Amino acid sequence: MATERPYRLAGIMGWPVAHSRSPVIHNHWIAEHQLRGAYVMLPVQPEHLKQALRGLPVLGFAGCNLTIPHKVAALQWVDHVDPLARRIGAINTVVVEADGSLSGRNTDGFGYIQSLRDAQPNWRAHAGAAAVIGAGGAARAVLAGLIDSGANTIRLTNRSGAKAHDLAQEFGPTVQAIAWEDRHDALADCALLVNTTNQGMHGEPPLDVRLDQLPLHALVSDIIYVPMETPLLAAARARGHTVVNGLGMLLNQARPAFEAWFGVLPNITPELLATVTATL
Ligand code: NAP
Repeated sequence: MATERPYRLAGIMGWPVAHSRSPVIHNHWIAEHQLRGAYVMLPVQPEHLKQALRGLPVLGFAGCNLTIPHKVAALQWVDHVDPLARRIGAINTVVVEADGSLSGRNTDGFGYIQSLRDAQPNWRAHAGAAAVIGAGGAARAVLAGLIDSGANTIRLTNRSGAKAHDLAQEFGPTVQAIAWEDRHDALADCALLVNTTNQGMHGEPPLDVRLDQLPLHALVSDIIYVPMETPLLAAARARGHTVVNGLGMLLNQARPAFEAWFGVLPNITPELLATVTATL
């Protein structure tokens, strides 16, 4: 008798979680690769995170993604944390190992760097200074990704300056904290500008930064994907910069997680892009 291919479950734990586009992405890949399985929404309240994670192996899950507010709290409930996730200080992917133990990883930094490479294949992290605006959870993944890709100089600025200073201390001499009021001039001779704040997101005001010092060859990226073109990207595009929105980061962070659960490294096809864009 032929053995049936295993049915695999994965999902996204968050609270709230209804806004997540991850089910659209992963279920598209499950269908594309004719796999047996499903990727589901897992609305889990913060006080139930430990029980929900511990339930994954017994429910037959291959793993899950984590989103707000669980990325940091989950560090204490998994059995193994890979060194990159430990450095970033957050987990976005949990893998159920063969022995039922839970491994925590972080694929957000990979997703960010890959989104730059997809937009500009000859992009190099050491091509010039990078300006990173924001010092929240996403900034930590972006910093780790840039440093591990070979960035030499990263200028980090944040509305609450102490957080930028703390991150500069933590991530080492590549990262220099810049005062918030100096953020406009800090763009001089930068080869990359990235917005990791929520400013420019749907419902939020535009990011308050002037681009006049930024060299025209600089790549400008925003990790926000709703809207796909933030006021920052629109202003940069109008100046002639190559711009990268946050959709590439979202899609690329999902690829290694899918591979870990389903055994196939999926691609970002025009069909997937169209399917996800239609939901934004
Ligand atoms: P977070 O940890 O809450 O950090 C928010 C950041 O925004 C902080 O640096 C904060 O500065 C800054 N900020 C908030 N209001 C501001 C204002 N009025 N003026 C200037 N700065 C302000 O959030 P996060 O998890 O890092 O997420 C940040 C953004 O990234 C969100 O829009 C999220 O959707 C997006 N994101 C995208 C992806 C993707 O895959 N594309 C992945 C993760 C996150 P203070 O420290 O001064 O408060």
